[in-house]
Amino acid sequence: MTVNVDTTAQDFSWLSLPAAQQPEWPDSEALRKVLAELASYPPLVFAGECDQLRARLGAVARGEAFLLQGGDCAEAFDAVSADHIRNKLKTLLQMAVVLTYAASVPVVKVGRIAGQYSKPRSKSTETRDGVTLPVYRGDSVNGFDFTPESRIPDPERLKRMYHASSSTLNLVRAFTTGGYADLRQVHAWNQDFVRNSPSGQRYERLAKEIDNALAFMNACGVDPEEFKTVEFYSSHEALVLDYETALTRTDSRTGDLYDVSGHMVWIGERTRQLDHAHIEFASKIRNPLGVKLGPTTSVDDALELIDRLDPDREPGRLSFITRMGAGKVRDLLPNLVEKVTASGAQVAWICDPMHGNTFEASSGHKTRNFDDVLDEVKGFFEVHRALGTHPGGIHVELTGDDVTECVGGGDEVFVDDLHQRYETACDPRLNRSQSLDLAFLVAEMLR
Ligand code: PEP
Ligand code: MN
Repeated sequence: MTVNVDTTAQDFSWLSLPAAQQPEWPDSEALRKVLAELASYPPLVFAGECDQLRARLGAVARGEAFLLQGGDCAEAFDAVSADHIRNKLKTLLQMAVVLTYAASVPVVKVGRIAGQYSKPRSKSTETRDGVTLPVYRGDSVNGFDFTPESRIPDPERLKRMYHASSSTLNLVRAFTTGGYADLRQVHAWNQDFVRNSPSGQRYERLAKEIDNALAFMNACGVDPEEFKTVEFYSSHEALVLDYETALTRTDSRTGDLYDVSGHMVWIGERTRQLDHAHIEFASKIRNPLGVKLGPTTSVDDALELIDRLDPDREPGRLSFITRMGAGKVRDLLPNLVEKVTASGAQVAWICDPMHGNTFEASSGHKTRNFDDVLDEVKGFFEVHRALGTHPGGIHVELTGDDVTECVGGGDEVFVDDLHQRYETACDPRLNRSQSLDLAFLVAEMLR
């Protein structure tokens, strides 16, 4: 299938290649109109911001910083509210403080946020009670409701994705630069339900130590500007190429192409075929890139991806986000890391401990066990420590709400609890207290 964008740009070379996981839009004229409109909209991010994130990720690739990347599996239009966005941000800020303080390492903060609306699926249809319908592909494409009408792809949703991303990013920018992310607010991020969980109490003790340090610095006459705001970036999977192409613009400073729908974009495990459109697209934009690498990744795949996406071997340009599964990471990761390192490439190695550890619980819920998530991160650290390479970061699916989607954690969620607040539109996310648990445990590994 080819993507369907009306553009006169000569260098949109990916448009003539096959692309996996694309929606089958029913009405090409309606799509054409939507894309023309999208192409006229202002950028959501600036090229210069993408360059800055690439520089920050360069520090990750060189072993001088740690990446915290997290957010929903699938954002949903009806969750674009101040409460949801603030809770997610709070979770990431708390995790970042734990990692920064407990491990004394700079943390690069990137949300799976403000654009994470499109989902690759392993099957194109879904059957319930004998009824088969097209699968849900994310709010950018069709509806979650299991009805024939809702599952028809509607290009108007691409515009809603843009507007939802825009208002989310606006609020994120306000929160992170407008005083809310000030380090003196460390206690304020720990209000509500999480405060009484074991990790919330542990966090409270750490926040007190930070308070003391700040008070000491203040008494010495030091009050750095850096403590008042937080540098925070957006990212999503570049999946629906109609949308990403309409948001791809030429940077007036350099003449280079940037996908201005988010700071960092990644290519998923199901769309990283070397001769297909997604990799060609990624090779043409200057944004920092991620590529997911699952257990079937060969050394040749990894080396060819580097040649295509990072021919100049520029630290920060390319992050490999490995998702092997807790049972496989210790066997499969060493060879990849060793051979990539031997090739002279300096990629950032990021651990996604979620996507290799999904299973169906006896209750029928798609879930993950906190212990498996933790074990994959441990395996990832062990492999890098053994090879002398840098475990550069974690990529996690989480929410700021008190959901019951993953089992385990210090404030334990049991299989029998899963039905209580199972709210994800796609994969199960760590709740706020499980996310904090993970941050404390990762901080220990980083020290
Ligand atoms: C995801 O990140 O939600 C996802 C689908 O991951 P992967 O491409 O690694 O399966
Ligand atoms: Mn997912």
